[in-house]
Amino acid sequence: MGYPHPTSQPRRRRRPRRPRPRICLRKGCGQRYLPRRWNQRYCQDPECRRQLRRWQAARRQARRRQNTAAKTQHAQAEQARRQRAQRPASLPQTPTKPEVTPARGHAAILFLPFPLCHRPGCFNPPLESVRNQAHYCGPTCHQAMHRVRDRERKWRSRLRFRTQRLRQQEYAAARARQPDHTAPTTSLPGPPA
Ligand SMILES: [Zn+2]
Ligand SMILES: [Zn+2]
Repeated sequence: MGYPHPTSQPRRRRRPRRPRPRICLRKGCGQRYLPRRWNQRYCQDPECRRQLRRWQAARRQARRRQNTAAKTQHAQAEQARRQRAQRPASLPQTPTKPEVTPARGHAAILFLPFPLCHRPGCFNPPLESVRNQAHYCGPTCHQAMHRVRDRERKWRSRLRFRTQRLRQQEYAAARARQPDHTAPTTSLPGPPA
């Protein structure tokens, strides 16, 4: 004799968790927004996006500049080495002219002589560090990035867990459908006559 039991039905799955309101990651924005996707990092305000693009351009520029400086240095070192190698003492010293001159960037992009903090929107240089190259200008930016990465890591593992569970359910359902498992269709008890 079965009595109605609330848990006899397949347990209702919790809906996929909705992201909670967040604060935009871009330094200096601070706007709260409701993310549409789990991995959204910024508010979608047009001005904020413009500022982000500006920062990205400045960062690319700074990287290119560093590259060029490194190349120039290398070229100069190579030239000096070649001169030392073929040293007919009589040969007049050729003036060391760097083969690669730093490109004159357009003034539209911010001219920054140093690498940028890795936090989007931050125009400060990374902290000077003896041991290893620091990525951030200070603890604030570092923590902001760390929080976001941590949040995304948790979301990823939750999503992975969910898909695993769904797959297991699908396999179980497929097994149950196979002919050798055809259990007699449990006829529901009719209403009492
Ligand atoms: Zn923003
Ligand atoms: Zn910073």
